[in-house]
Amino acid sequence: MSPIVRIEARIVDLGEGMLVRRFLPSRQQRMVGAWCFLDHAGPVDFAPGHGMHVGAHPHIGLQTFTWLIEGKVLHRDSLGNEQIIRPGQVNLMTAGRGIVHTEDSLADGQRLHAAQLWIALPPEEQDCAPDFAHYPDLPQWRAGGARLTLLAGTYGEHTAPTRLYSPLFGLDMSCDAATAIDLQLDPEFEYGLLPLEGEVVIGEEGFRADEFAYLGRGHDSLGLRLAFGSRVLLLGGRPFDQPVLMWWNFVGFTKAAIADAQGQWESGDHRFGPVGDGSARRLVPPPLPWHDY
Ligand code: MN
Repeated sequence: MSPIVRIEARIVDLGEGMLVRRFLPSRQQRMVGAWCFLDHAGPVDFAPGHGMHVGAHPHIGLQTFTWLIEGKVLHRDSLGNEQIIRPGQVNLMTAGRGIVHTEDSLADGQRLHAAQLWIALPPEEQDCAPDFAHYPDLPQWRAGGARLTLLAGTYGEHTAPTRLYSPLFGLDMSCDAATAIDLQLDPEFEYGLLPLEGEVVIGEEGFRADEFAYLGRGHDSLGLRLAFGSRVLLLGGRPFDQPVLMWWNFVGFTKAAIADAQGQWESGDHRFGPVGDGSARRLVPPPLPWHDY
């Protein structure tokens, strides 16, 4: 069995002092299955008059997967959806050929804690019709002092309702008492584990909050010891067999596809429609990093 790869966070400023810890993509590991992006936001207590406010920005070629732990966030998109997401819920936006959205704290001066993930769409779904889905109820069960919530895929008799396009797994474990837990894994999948709060011991190795553990593939079980008050996110998926390009908010398989999307966003092309009345601040991408597409 390959050793566990320990991946430290990169601190990324999303603007206006909103700092997040980014784990995927990382130098050591770009993806876990089709999970291609993982930010851990908060927990943060915003000062009065402050909150998370992400202006209008486009996506292509991916699904955005928001797992909210604390706070309330308003999602609005160019399909006309307006949805408040609350703790214990998932927002899943399928960008496909193109969508635009904004994300705002519902009220300023409040607490926020979330995991923001992206999922690369497989080649045959890259240009699918955009879609947005809100999942207020996910399968939950208890194991000792842990409450388990299935975010993606199947575990035993439980199947998450989240609509995905490749074989994936996502499980949140939240502990109100120290707990040892044995999970069944799929040896065809690769796995990664992020303690969001507290500590977890995998086998004999301890991982603190915000130390991502890449486990690789070939495991049919996983023994964890979870500390009191810990919260852990376990991700898995069948290794994605095609190299994915990621630039700004775009995922694609060619530089040309990404360059087209960026040009169309910058020129106001109708591929990327307005959010609401179109008055939301528009985010501006940095210049493309390549000139040879
Ligand atoms: Mn986004």
